[in-house]
Amino acid sequence: ESNPGDVGAVALTARDFKGAVDPDWCPGCGDFGVLNSLQRAVAGLGLQPHQILTVSGIGCSSNLPGYINTNGMHTLHGRSLAVATGAKLANHELTVVVTGGDGDGYGIGGNHFTHTARRNIDLTYIVMNNQIYGLTTGQISPTSRDGMKTKSTPFGSVETPINPITSAIMNGASFVARGYSGDVRHLTSLMEQAIQHKGFALVDVFSPCVTFNLDNTHNFFKDRVVKLEDEEHDTSDWKLACEKAMAWGDTIYTGVFFQVPDAPVLNRREPVLDDGGPLAFRKLGLSEDQAQ
Ligand code: SF4
Ligand code: MG
Repeated sequence: ESNPGDVGAVALTARDFKGAVDPDWCPGCGDFGVLNSLQRAVAGLGLQPHQILTVSGIGCSSNLPGYINTNGMHTLHGRSLAVATGAKLANHELTVVVTGGDGDGYGIGGNHFTHTARRNIDLTYIVMNNQIYGLTTGQISPTSRDGMKTKSTPFGSVETPINPITSAIMNGASFVARGYSGDVRHLTSLMEQAIQHKGFALVDVFSPCVTFNLDNTHNFFKDRVVKLEDEEHDTSDWKLACEKAMAWGDTIYTGVFFQVPDAPVLNRREPVLDDGGPLAFRKLGLSEDQAQ
């Protein structure tokens, strides 16, 4: 998207989106691949830093807005989607990207995940899913596997994990994808598609925590991930998408599972939210003068 203020703006590279401080993530953390992919994606789409807002909650991965050269907000644990919704409805021109982890997004913020998806707010939500709470040094999260031994489950987890992909589809998300941080080229493409999609776009990313999750490691994923685009897949078929999303054996799929390209975003359905223009004032029973 171009806007009149950007006439003559120079095309940027991923390097131009490097933040003022370097990540403090553990060496080998999957989140490096996610940050790298996001910097490439926004550069590839020709965006400028001032056109983007990156919002996060709390966690290792939620430190990401500090490491990227865009507008940024580091908000409360689990509340990033609520803050991002407000920002997007206040300024529709902004490209709003929400970044965080599985504990933050599917646990603490599970409520917002459901309702932002069903409202089809035009946001890109990137979840660095390492299947554990990393920042608090290794407790089970909503995506930890049944039986997983962690600091909080020394005898193994007795909980059934949620599946972010099927959950998002059932909640009404209009773009649902999964990537792997070890495949930056593929992840960059998924992020570009998610940002270009008009509506709520989830990119769940396998982003291994090399320090606390000894089950779902880089080796675990490297041997299993298969791209949906390398097989027959129809992104308009939600049943097929759910079936593929639930595969969890020697094959685990990445790619775009599901998309409704033309689902109306919330502000298009509600004139008051859309542009604050004459239509909105009429709906409120006000003249434009009264509304000033
Ligand atoms: Fe990454 Fe885990 Fe280290 Fe956190 S604790 S920075 S998630 S490897
Ligand atoms: Mg996590």
